[in-house]
Amino acid sequence: MQVILAQPRGFCAGVVRAIEIVDRALVKHGAPVFVRHEIVHNKHVVEALRHKGARFVEELDEVPTGAVTIFSAHGVSRDVESDAKTRQLHSIDATCPLVIKVHTQGRQYAASGRTVILIGHAGHPEVEGTMGQIPGKVILVQSEAEVALLDLPTDTPVAYVTQTTLSVDDTRNIIAALSGRFANLVGPDTRDICYATQNRQSAVRELSKRVEVILVIGATNSSNSNRLREIGTESGVPSYLIADGSELNPEWVRGVEVVGITAGASAPEEMVKDVIATLRQLGPVDVSVMDGREEHAEFRLPAELADPSPRKRAAGTATAETAPQPDPQTAAG
Ligand code: SF4
Repeated sequence: MQVILAQPRGFCAGVVRAIEIVDRALVKHGAPVFVRHEIVHNKHVVEALRHKGARFVEELDEVPTGAVTIFSAHGVSRDVESDAKTRQLHSIDATCPLVIKVHTQGRQYAASGRTVILIGHAGHPEVEGTMGQIPGKVILVQSEAEVALLDLPTDTPVAYVTQTTLSVDDTRNIIAALSGRFANLVGPDTRDICYATQNRQSAVRELSKRVEVILVIGATNSSNSNRLREIGTESGVPSYLIADGSELNPEWVRGVEVVGITAGASAPEEMVKDVIATLRQLGPVDVSVMDGREEHAEFRLPAELADPSPRKRAAGTATAETAPQPDPQTAAG
């Protein structure tokens, strides 16, 4: 069996940063540190951090007064931020800088008097956080059909922002529907969309031209991983979302000569290796990596955690202070 790995795949800079924040908070403050929501949507990552002393909670009323509390990469609403202050929590924000950028854009649009529309998935923590970061009413739309149902006059000044785990391709039709509906519509430059989402989706599209089956490594509650599976299926290739090798059904690859593997932005590379090891139990496997974008993005850590970790000092790698805050457009490489 030939296995082709998508390039890029797996961890993005926002996920690396969020995990590093929990790691460093544990070193600096000692266990336990509390994390609101899964730091990233991956049970292996969460379990590894739990093992080190992180405690995951869904709401702040589960956190003792004054405790160190980390907000996940998905971001939180202003209500959550102010609740943390009221409870005198020592909060550390692991929200991805690209999500914060969406918050800032939304606030600017609202301040200029526009009705803000968020294109995203209802119930996703990033969507809840973004809606709660923009003052006034934010309207969530999930499809072109919902655009048609919007109860707004066509001359309303409108602006849209998007959930980061949707790509340019995902949002194109909804934005076109908004343009057809509203004469005065503005939105961010499409190059502002998350580089990692776009790159992983483009890679899986390329992968789908060369393989018979696609295995997407990621969690069922990971929006970007689900989207990768959907793109594989839409491209006409049977595609399956699995957390690790234990979820691989041998029937999916029986008689298959070329298997493609990709991983969502919150899935560790160890899980890709785990799936390859499981495939090897079924027969000889030849692994190659497809040509694709190299990513070099690295996001700066919060100031209070920016001292180089012992691990990084020993490795002699760039420290958080010296690492540049990338422009996500160039970071896409
Ligand atoms: S997928 Fe994009 S927006 Fe989400 S954490 Fe990664 S870099 Fe940030």
